[in-house]
Amino acid sequence: VKRANLLGYKTHADYVLENNMAKKPENVYKFLEQLWKPALKMAKGEVKELQEMISKEGHDFKLQPWDWWYYAEKLKKAKYALDEEMLRPYFKLENVREGAFSVANKLFGIQFIERKDIPKYHEDARVFEVKEADGSHIGIFYTDFFPRASKRGGAWMNSFRKQSRLHGKEIYPVITNNGNFSKPTGGKPALISSEEVLTLFHEFGHGLHGLLSDCTYNRLSGTSVSRDFVEMQSQIMENWAFEPEVLKMYAKHYETGEVIPQELIDKLEKASQFNQGFVTVEYMAACFLDMDWHTLSEAKEMDVDEFEEASMNKIGLIPEIVVRYKSPYFNHIFSGGYASGYYSYIWAEVLDADAFQAFKETSLFDQKTAQSFRENILERGGTEDPMVLYKRFRGAEPKVEALLKKRGLN
Ligand SMILES: [Zn+2]
Repeated sequence: VKRANLLGYKTHADYVLENNMAKKPENVYKFLEQLWKPALKMAKGEVKELQEMISKEGHDFKLQPWDWWYYAEKLKKAKYALDEEMLRPYFKLENVREGAFSVANKLFGIQFIERKDIPKYHEDARVFEVKEADGSHIGIFYTDFFPRASKRGGAWMNSFRKQSRLHGKEIYPVITNNGNFSKPTGGKPALISSEEVLTLFHEFGHGLHGLLSDCTYNRLSGTSVSRDFVEMQSQIMENWAFEPEVLKMYAKHYETGEVIPQELIDKLEKASQFNQGFVTVEYMAACFLDMDWHTLSEAKEMDVDEFEEASMNKIGLIPEIVVRYKSPYFNHIFSGGYASGYYSYIWAEVLDADAFQAFKETSLFDQKTAQSFRENILERGGTEDPMVLYKRFRGAEPKVEALLKKRGLN
């Protein structure tokens, strides 16, 4: 607050958000409230279901926050009978990667050609040259998907070299996708989980953002965009991953080559909406808490527990769910760079769901829509205000409806 005031802002949130797509704290609150009500309603329904399960098992206690995951897992098994191990044989890593490449090919006409002659920093890495449909060079794409002792955890995209065009000299991007996916074991190839499939498509989306960049300045090219915009380009790719039409392209049994059965596709789709009330509520409670802390307009001593309780009461959080992070444990918003930015994750989800809707309204690989997405979003980096870019692509500001539907909250 002190710094924000010195710089002429009312609150820390005002200071941070000016450079984000959301622009103002009011916009973030307004946005969050649109999602909060339906999410809370759904979570209350989930409480009921879990409570019924507890009673059915002959217990007479009231569901507590710490019981949630235990009973949710039981309910999920009972309801969907979806075993992750049934899916794995269809998700051979190379097939999934080829699936992602095919999606990019069908959308933008670009090709990924493996190059064995380009140096690699580790034998697990693979190198691909990315080309336009007409064969002209776009950039180089590295994949490095397996864990090793010296590697950090998680999955990420990085630019070894960003695209730029200074003094008429074209600098082509060199992009990498990293992961820690399940390695081949016992004579079997690398078979990854459905969660990992999404991760691969996600990072590939960041990869495309870096590869298809068409900017002048290095500082503004590729993924150099505001925090509440950068996950849209990655998350949108996740939408293609589990579309039946796309699954049939790449999800083939690693031994028999059989295409994933429709029955499994249906199960996967149904299970994806399970527990979404809870997931949305416990995350969003943290978004509100983040905003409440950072919209304080004066620096003063206060009781953290009291503040947090008041904040949660204000939004009507139910006792069966606790906020994802308690304040003293909420690293993101105090030193993690996400101060008044925790909302970004779901903001980007609204964007990607709404943007993907443009394809759903036409067709999954509609060329006009794909071209517009490429020209107005992927190529532009941070050279213009994200909302301007978005509207140029979509013709309107993003709406929350597509995400509500996706999460089953409508
Ligand atoms: Zn990401």
